[in-house]
Amino acid sequence: MATNEVKLPFAQNPDGRMVHISEVPNGLACDCICPKCQTSLVAKKGKKMQHHFAHEGRGSCKGAVESALHKAAKQVLAEGHVIHLPEYWCTIQGFGNQKLFNEIVWEYQKVAQEQQIKECGEHVVADVVLKDGKRKLIIEIAVTHPIDEEKAGKIRKMNLSVVEIDLKQHLDTIHNFDDLKKILIDKLHNKTWIHSSKKEELILKKRQELITELKSHRNLLKTPVIPNKSPKNKK
Ligand SMILES: [Zn+2]
Repeated sequence: MATNEVKLPFAQNPDGRMVHISEVPNGLACDCICPKCQTSLVAKKGKKMQHHFAHEGRGSCKGAVESALHKAAKQVLAEGHVIHLPEYWCTIQGFGNQKLFNEIVWEYQKVAQEQQIKECGEHVVADVVLKDGKRKLIIEIAVTHPIDEEKAGKIRKMNLSVVEIDLKQHLDTIHNFDDLKKILIDKLHNKTWIHSSKKEELILKKRQELITELKSHRNLLKTPVIPNKSPKNKK
């Protein structure tokens, strides 16, 4: 579903928090603004249409739905501490398809939003960065702009661990904040590994194993062949 067909389901309240249409009173009493253009919003909670926020006294606001979903998603991840991640298979040249991770419920302790990351002469702005004691995982929220090949190339060059969460396919299933939480935290089929720094570690490990194996073969070839002494007079 394209976002221009989708009505605004989330808005920013006076505390700066994102709230769902289901949590606020009808009309201007919702006391919310658009996170994109900061205009006052009216909560439309009638009987006919799907409940949504509308801009007061004006029509559409390009990018409002995308911006609101991004902010709401970042809020969910920032306030949580676990995320369910899918297994990750990748192709390593010369070694075929390799499984890097099993499916996992990963616990994180720190969260940063909209962080600039610079490595190897490249830079990306990460939607959300989750960290535990030793690992760092970037979460990219895709609404209308999934990660393109150019950005994926940068991510691989920078050797960052990145998972993309697709919200676009699920826009019409979000009826409250809990639905959004389930999509972001529990569901797996909407999450895609773009790259993992563990892949580079695995490549190094596989190469090392290969070198060790080649060396042992070479040593075997150098070993002088001692002919088997068959017992004489064997009857
Ligand atoms: Zn707006």
